[in-house]
Amino acid sequence: MNNFQNILEHIARDIELVKDRGTVASYIPELAHVDKNKFGMHLIDAQGNHYGTGDSEEGFSIQSISKVLSLSQAFAIMGDKLWERVDVEPSGDPFNHLSLLELEHGIPRNPLINAGALVIADVLISHLENPKADFLAYVRKMANDENINYDMDVAASESKTGYTNYAAANLLKSYGNIKNDVDDVLDFYFHQCSLKMSCRQLTEVFYIFMNRGKCRRGNAFLNINQVKRVNAIMLTCGFYDEAGEFAFEVGLPGKSGVGGGIVALLPNQFCIATWSPGLNVKGNSKLGMIALEQFTTQTGLSIF
Ligand code: GLU
Repeated sequence: MNNFQNILEHIARDIELVKDRGTVASYIPELAHVDKNKFGMHLIDAQGNHYGTGDSEEGFSIQSISKVLSLSQAFAIMGDKLWERVDVEPSGDPFNHLSLLELEHGIPRNPLINAGALVIADVLISHLENPKADFLAYVRKMANDENINYDMDVAASESKTGYTNYAAANLLKSYGNIKNDVDDVLDFYFHQCSLKMSCRQLTEVFYIFMNRGKCRRGNAFLNINQVKRVNAIMLTCGFYDEAGEFAFEVGLPGKSGVGGGIVALLPNQFCIATWSPGLNVKGNSKLGMIALEQFTTQTGLSIF
């Protein structure tokens, strides 16, 4: 295990040679400015040792990765009643596909597509006194890191252009599966997606999913059965319509975001994060997918 640092550096050197780095997301205008040449990779092991390479300490927009964190807070609050509001089936469709609202009941296919994350945002607004501040405090506590913040420019940028999310939220509202004001739900959602973190910070936050629900200081955020469920959802739903490909190539539960981040984990062993802003056609980080495939292939460490 102590050769993790060598393996990360070796992969980063190989990644330098890849010519096609994908396309930076531009439908959220603020994300379009990010330098496509950035690449970072970071790993934390179960003992809390850190290994990193490249731009692994530079913050970026975690976007959809935040959906796992809001899901986790809502699940901790609601328990299994949460599943009355959102299903747990993979979609096999892109993240913003409106057909993913099951038409009869307005129940989204899973909590990691946008429609599902909007329902989760609604649940949190119903239960938290100061939703945005309380969610941020929850994430900071998971990582024991007060430096984690929303990126207000990214949140404002998405709120100006997020037409599909406005449509999804209104459709959910029409089915009665959003209880609060649609604008409040979207405002919360755009802020959660704007969370800015480095690969290093992501591995600290996601440590609980590797460590049976407990953070590095031993505080419990979820119980072991809840972690099992969240990890199962990441494995089956964490990569839009490329979840099968990620399981096939990498073999770990994980989540990606259109900011170019990916975080993945092997229960009880390690949590790993990559960042490269160029995306493949499915919206997942092009180099991140390659790097993680190399990592699990070279180490032989995957859930399979
Ligand atoms: N805030 C983004 C959106 O809703 C998140 C997309 C993603 O990372 O998949 O479009």
